[in-house]
Amino acid sequence: MVSKVIFGRGCFNQLADILSPRRLNTKAPFIFFVDDVFKGNSWLTSRIPLSYDDKLVYVSTKEEPKTSQIDQLVEDIILTYKERPSGIIGIGGGSVLDIAKAVAIMLNNDGESKDYQGWDLVNTEAVYHVGIPTISGTGAEVSRTTILTGPERKLGINSDFTPFDQVLLDPELTKDVPKDQWFYTGMDCFVHCIESLNGTYLNAFSKSYGEKALELCKEIFIDNDCTDEESQDKLMMASWHGGMSIAYSQVGVAHAMSYGLSYLLGIKHGIGNCIVFDHLEDYYPEGVALFKVMKKKHNITLPQGICANLSDEEFDIMIDVALSLEPLWENAIGKQWKKIITKEKLKALYLKM
Ligand code: NAD
Ligand code: ZN
Repeated sequence: MVSKVIFGRGCFNQLADILSPRRLNTKAPFIFFVDDVFKGNSWLTSRIPLSYDDKLVYVSTKEEPKTSQIDQLVEDIILTYKERPSGIIGIGGGSVLDIAKAVAIMLNNDGESKDYQGWDLVNTEAVYHVGIPTISGTGAEVSRTTILTGPERKLGINSDFTPFDQVLLDPELTKDVPKDQWFYTGMDCFVHCIESLNGTYLNAFSKSYGEKALELCKEIFIDNDCTDEESQDKLMMASWHGGMSIAYSQVGVAHAMSYGLSYLLGIKHGIGNCIVFDHLEDYYPEGVALFKVMKKKHNITLPQGICANLSDEEFDIMIDVALSLEPLWENAIGKQWKKIITKEKLKALYLKM
């Protein structure tokens, strides 16, 4: 779990106080990875406390994080500085948070990041790392994974060393998120709740967090009777609780299939989940009905026919990626899932999207 967290509008201003006791020495920098959407945004960047050799690195979120990108970022840091960094700070959405986690791990572990995709393959503690979300929903701020696309698969580095040492939750940082993206990333949280609460891995720990997150999602996306600020605050906590819920259970069908879309077609996580979830009424009837209400209420139009022109080979790649995520299917369907989920079934579902 994340060992330290602060919450509150404006708490971003406390970043300097949080970091300064963690500085190892003047030559060991803090590296700030910041979503490049904030380039030129002095409201945010002027408050990033840079001193000595600290560095601000803008990262593009056009594509989701790749293992090759992580290896390059780590190599750049190692070649530029004589000392190991004092800390890695990620400021952005799920993509940037995952980059910060992965770089912090790989600075202290040999080899390539692709070798650590999986469960509990990391041996050495990561460099001190801090997560500061600027959009809410993924739960990446709280989870024990960093999801990377590697040469063979899209899969997380899941380990006890992955979670942030410190998280700073300032809902004000989310104020300029565009409406569509607010919905897609917010729905990631909603889907986490539905997949966790309807999974065979469910337990009292996950249920308590999943139920709270789902209740908050309904207040934000259906009841819609809170102010913008309240809604930003609530979505930030929904994301946290949704992440906590899956930390002790698993996600399910939507995530498995959305990873396939992302791997083959580069479709991003939030919108990918929405595209898939829209067609999962056989698996999550109540959740999908609620999803359709929210989609309509917020005038969201999802892309159609995205798999219409794929070749058989391409379908095979996508389906193999989806099926390789065994724990997700076992959570969703049960131990007998291989008897129920066939390649043909998945192809028919993909064809509907
Ligand atoms: P993202 O990080 O790509 O951000 C989405 C978009 O919102 C980007 O264009 C970004 O520039 C923009 N944005 C972010 N903050 C903004 C702000 N304050 N104002 C204006 N624009 C802003 O997307 P995401 O949905 O947050 O994250 C998706 C990524 O997270 C995927 O790579 C996915 O695999 C990963 N993920 C990780 C976990 C985990 O537990 N580690 C869980 C779910 C998803
Ligand atoms: Zn997700």
